[in-house]
Amino acid sequence: MTYAYDDQNIFAKILRGEIPNKTVLETEHSLAFHDIQPQAPVHVLVIPKGPYVCYDHFALEASDAEIVDFTRTVGEVCKLAGVQAGENGDGFRLISNSGENGVQEVPHLHVHVLGGRWLGRMLQ
Ligand code: 5GP
Repeated sequence: MTYAYDDQNIFAKILRGEIPNKTVLETEHSLAFHDIQPQAPVHVLVIPKGPYVCYDHFALEASDAEIVDFTRTVGEVCKLAGVQAGENGDGFRLISNSGENGVQEVPHLHVHVLGGRWLGRMLQ
């Protein structure tokens, strides 16, 4: 499978500095920023800087350095946002929508970090 990346998507524009964002954390390979329409008290999006459409694209084609950086950035966001599961917080939910069935709006991989309230049961 080849993944076609559209560099005109909104997160590509954020990465190029063409539109503003409220940054939570920036690393060599990742950027975390507040969602423009938060669905919970904490709603942060974490994206890799590389041109990856969705999670499988990233997991299969990104370098080990990018994958480690992205994974750790998600963890750091949970810590910074105070939702880290365990003794430092009340827990959180990670969501990464992918493709049409996954109802992905922006075609650049992003993980939603949601927390700060009880999020309800998603899967029965
Ligand atoms: P998806 O449905 O693709 O998983 O989620 C896309 C998310 O991007 C939505 O939660 C939406 O609110 C957010 N979003 C869309 N446009 C912008 C924007 O220009 N800035 C920010 N910060 N978030 C955006």
